[in-house]
Amino acid sequence: MESTKQPATNVNQSAVATKIAVAKGDGIGPEIMDATLKILKAANAHIDPQFIDLGEKVYLEGNSAGIANETWDLIKDNKIILKAPITTPQGKGYKSLNVTLRKSLSLFANVRPVVALDPFVQTGHPNLDVVIIRENEEDLYAGIEHQQTEDVVQCLKLVTKPGCQRIIRYAFEYAKINGRKKVTCMVKDNIMKLTDGLFHRTFDKIAAEYPEIKSETQIIDIGSARLAASPERYDVVVTSNLYGDIISDIVAEIAGSVGLAGSANVGKEVAMFEAIHGSAPDISGQGIANPSGLINAAVMMLNHIGQNKVAANVKNAWLKTIEDGIHTADIFKENWSKQKVSTSAFADAVIERLGMKPQNLHAVEEVADGARIEIQDYNRIKSNKELVGIDVFIDWAGSNPDQIGNDLDNLSTLGMKLKMITNRGVKVYPNGQEYTFCTDHWRCRFVPIESDMRATPPIYKAIAYDRIVNLLKTLDEGGFDVIKTENLYQFDGVRGFSLGQGE
Ligand code: NAD
Repeated sequence: MESTKQPATNVNQSAVATKIAVAKGDGIGPEIMDATLKILKAANAHIDPQFIDLGEKVYLEGNSAGIANETWDLIKDNKIILKAPITTPQGKGYKSLNVTLRKSLSLFANVRPVVALDPFVQTGHPNLDVVIIRENEEDLYAGIEHQQTEDVVQCLKLVTKPGCQRIIRYAFEYAKINGRKKVTCMVKDNIMKLTDGLFHRTFDKIAAEYPEIKSETQIIDIGSARLAASPERYDVVVTSNLYGDIISDIVAEIAGSVGLAGSANVGKEVAMFEAIHGSAPDISGQGIANPSGLINAAVMMLNHIGQNKVAANVKNAWLKTIEDGIHTADIFKENWSKQKVSTSAFADAVIERLGMKPQNLHAVEEVADGARIEIQDYNRIKSNKELVGIDVFIDWAGSNPDQIGNDLDNLSTLGMKLKMITNRGVKVYPNGQEYTFCTDHWRCRFVPIESDMRATPPIYKAIAYDRIVNLLKTLDEGGFDVIKTENLYQFDGVRGFSLGQGE
């Protein structure tokens, strides 16, 4: 079993302080990290911060990954990271370090709890209490992009069975341990039937194992609209990387400020805790940033390492500070808040309230030891995989689909026949629509001549790869500019590729 720990673990408070890799980050990062560490120290958190350099400074020293090799070693030794936001320099081809950290350390679950602090932080949604659980490693964030023709660039959306299984199981386990009642899955599988379809099907399968927790699936567009309009209808939401990135910011913002929410990035070995917001360069160095997001992330970290009592103490002191109307500029409202304070004064106010509980907001209870999320290892079940054709993508600057279609039809393609051509996914040959706009990017689908495309459903003939090799050789010799290919497979007789629109 893979096991991850959220929100509480079996780790006992030992005599040796838990080593934490601490990154102060960029922009407002150092300001909010200093404030947070001051609170943790005053609360007697049993931690030993080990400072690491990440981000802008490292990028500008010429390290395009934004992280030095020795820092990786330190992270792997400590296994816990408390990280302030970092700045990714724009437009110089630097990869996002956040994405690199999440993927390299296999931090598959991004957990973002957001709760309204009504009436102390102004929000139109006083009953908002939502946890967004976002898949953190895959999807369009694989970052695999190519320019293929003059007109066309592409980004690969990768969705995997193990990725879907562990994030969805994590969401249900999280709901179970935290007494949550419902898990909502958000997908766009009316369009992306294979990728988002896999996420949806996996959700249905795993949801059936948790009959005590309600489950539902919504299409991401209407789901996000409803989440923004009536977030109180939601409890735990699980979704893929890009959708989760967007909706978690929406939920944090409508709760009052992106400056309030913390998040955990949880993997099997390592966990990283951070605020959800960025490095806010527009207010950096002014001492006015809200450290609450990082404080809340630190509370999640304390629970993760089993320091549940300290976690509850810090959280309650923070709630009491908010309730007492002591607010940083981002949430300060005249006639609503009592005192507008700087980042460090806010931290001092939290420290003064350690040991106190809020009177109106819900005080948190110390999380019980032993609550542990267990994620089963992925068990690959092999199916029968058959090669049944190929999509050949051709760069061609012409505009008449019939011309390239006829040329390909007339080519002697040795056991393969052209089934159709699409442009941006829409069938343009044979019998396309005259109004379809065509770019220089033509997807030409070839299937074995023995296939019966008139049958319902079509019957594909399995072939060996040498037919594909011969086809590609013929296309090359025929002067076609092949820019990429995608093999067509059936798995246990089920089509593993989408049809063209109009196919
Ligand atoms: P941002 O979250 O930094 O700022 C958006 C707005 O929210 C700004 O007006 C900012 O002043 C405000 N804000 C954010 N945090 C606040 C806080 N704690 N207190 C008060 N106000 C706060 O988003 P951005 O401007 O799009 O990004 C700035 C930089 O941060 C970029 O380089 C981006 O790549 C990086 N970033 C890093 C992370 C991370 O390290 N996890 C996440 C997102 C963005």
